[in-house]
Amino acid sequence: MAILEITDLKKSFGPLEVLKNITFDVTKNDVVAVIGPSGSGKSTMLRSLVHLETIDGGSIRVADRYLVKNGAYAKPKELSSITARMGMVFQQFDLFPHLTVIENLELAPRLTKREPLDAIKRRSSELLAKVGLSDKSNAYPNKLSGGQKQRVAIARALMMNPDVLLFDEPTSALDPELTGEVLEVMKSLAEEHMTMIVVTHEMEFAKEVANQVIFMDNGHIIETGHPDQLFGNPQFDRTKAFLNRSN
Ligand code: ADP
Ligand code: MG
Repeated sequence: MAILEITDLKKSFGPLEVLKNITFDVTKNDVVAVIGPSGSGKSTMLRSLVHLETIDGGSIRVADRYLVKNGAYAKPKELSSITARMGMVFQQFDLFPHLTVIENLELAPRLTKREPLDAIKRRSSELLAKVGLSDKSNAYPNKLSGGQKQRVAIARALMMNPDVLLFDEPTSALDPELTGEVLEVMKSLAEEHMTMIVVTHEMEFAKEVANQVIFMDNGHIIETGHPDQLFGNPQFDRTKAFLNRSN
């Protein structure tokens, strides 16, 4: 069974239709790359999955529960436990500036109080090691490079043990020399079979790491397929035009 099932998603901002019947599935262990021109609705789609945007129609099923079914949202009490299955990493890191690295990681799990503190501490130090930042545990975000901040943001998202990790252009705000360290961390997560949806302009990353690529344009999914297919033999002129522009 798909861990995420997105059916006929619709979203408008006032008169502007931003998502028009977006439908796709994500299976456990998938790495889905979402590509497409600026303004095509990629961020809105991702934000809808974690209920940072409220959709106007369609369904989002996460594992065995519906966040929203035919436009009707789950009860308020259930919403946060459904969206908690997903972690999100934003373009702008969004770390809490007044908290140290380790405090950033531990804040959400401490607030939810679902597990003992020593378990939280064990996981935060494991995850910092995983992203190569054990030595930055007590640093404040403003002492970190952009690449380091984004690695902290990834570790923080992993603290809640999400079933799916969502990335919205995680390297777009970084100087080119810092993108590699973030992509490496993401690649190692993929190798450990983390289920991920990655909105990205990094075509090489999509080719190498994704097993499904979705091309969006103007609020539609134009084409979806394995990277070999979508990059090697795109079926639609709009896909071809976009890929030619991105090369
Ligand atoms: P992408 O991430 O593919 O660049 P977005 O999802 O950010 O696209 O935006 C899709 C469209 O929705 C754009 O036309 C954008 O201007 C518009 N949009 C996004 N967020 C809002 C908002 N909060 N209010 C009004 N329009 C918005
Ligand atoms: Mg965007």
